[in-house]
Amino acid sequence: MKRRSILNAGTLVLLLGAQQIARGAGIVAVRLWPAPDYTRLTIESDTLLASKQQVAADRMTLDLEGIALDPALRELVGKVKADDPFIAGIRIAQAGPNTVRLTIALKQAALPQVFQLQPVAAYQHRLVVDFYPPRPVDPLEALIAERMKEQDKPLAIAPAPAPAIAAAPVPDPLGELIAQQTQRPPRAAVQVPASEVAKPAVPALANAKTDRLIIVALDPGHGGEDPGAIGPGGTREKDVVLQIAHLLRERINNMSINGNPMRAFLTRDADFFVPLGTRVDKARRVQADLFVSIHADAFMTPTARGASVFALSQSGASSSAARWMADKENKADLVGGLNIKAQDQHVMRAMLDMSTTAQINDSLKLGSALLGEMGTVGRLHKGSVEQAGFAVLKAPDIPSVLVETAFISNPEEETKLRSSGYQEQLADALIKGIERYFSRNPPLARNRPL
Ligand SMILES: [Zn+2]
Repeated sequence: MKRRSILNAGTLVLLLGAQQIARGAGIVAVRLWPAPDYTRLTIESDTLLASKQQVAADRMTLDLEGIALDPALRELVGKVKADDPFIAGIRIAQAGPNTVRLTIALKQAALPQVFQLQPVAAYQHRLVVDFYPPRPVDPLEALIAERMKEQDKPLAIAPAPAPAIAAAPVPDPLGELIAQQTQRPPRAAVQVPASEVAKPAVPALANAKTDRLIIVALDPGHGGEDPGAIGPGGTREKDVVLQIAHLLRERINNMSINGNPMRAFLTRDADFFVPLGTRVDKARRVQADLFVSIHADAFMTPTARGASVFALSQSGASSSAARWMADKENKADLVGGLNIKAQDQHVMRAMLDMSTTAQINDSLKLGSALLGEMGTVGRLHKGSVEQAGFAVLKAPDIPSVLVETAFISNPEEETKLRSSGYQEQLADALIKGIERYFSRNPPLARNRPL
């Protein structure tokens, strides 16, 4: 449906006639994707759009050349959300006979990246402006901030403890992790020597006798410019998988394994595009014990149905269907829109060359446990874990699986995927699978701090 409306908009521009075309690019659509990591502004046009920008502390001006002021472009003004972390507002004006100027008021000093994307999938040419914070969002700090929000009680400072504190059971593993990772005292302990600081009071974990926090990275597929698969009824994969991830997060955060509390970390918690490599990097930054990518894809035929689970492969795909699925998923960066120049290619290559045999073995075990539970909720597409070269499963040190919860291209499964009842059942099955995996494969006694 989305594809059709985009094509129609494109056709409309073409039908406006030679006069418009002679002026240059016609605007097809404008979109804004606000998120804490970065806000993206996309201007889609039927031909390449030339632009020049100037950046100041409180605003950015973007001159679009070879176009006239267009109602489609004006829509940007109304699309700015009050809670956008970066953009306060947008003004649009004709700045010359063939130049339209966007003045983008900024809420914080942002580092804009401007780049072009070639036509791909349902999209024509895209001019993209990403507004990044001067200091990138650290996934670990994001996890901490989320945890802080959950705490009902104000943080308390206890009387100065005896020096033997280090040997005592740690009541708050995440607090400990925070302190060690950030090399800074916890928030409550500003200007108090670290050795004299008590950990924040956390009722939920107060009795946990452990120094080990189990972190499960949940990776809702797609997002932002990349809707993922779209069902015959218009359901978008990116929306459904985020809902399922939220339900699974609730369950994970209420669970512990042998007294070790679990925490979920989401690689995206809003509707914005996260590159595949960044998803892996985020999971590694929080030293996740597991990585579960959640999807609900379309297949070549609408009759395809059932859940499947995939692990990485070092030598080819386990079936042509698995290869097809991996190729499809790996295109997410093209559709979502990656600023290739801004990516650190060296880091990526070094990471992908690392051995992954042990990771794949663990991933297959995790995948089997998940499949076993998912089979009790609904039909399975295939009863065993499939393997192919999924880019998002390439963390060399984290058991990683990609779960296709159902085929959104199947009308019956699309209806189920939309229902909160089925989403709950899926989340229940996934948490049981994770529990089953950990009961047979206890988390390694890994020393978290680097
Ligand atoms: Zn997908």
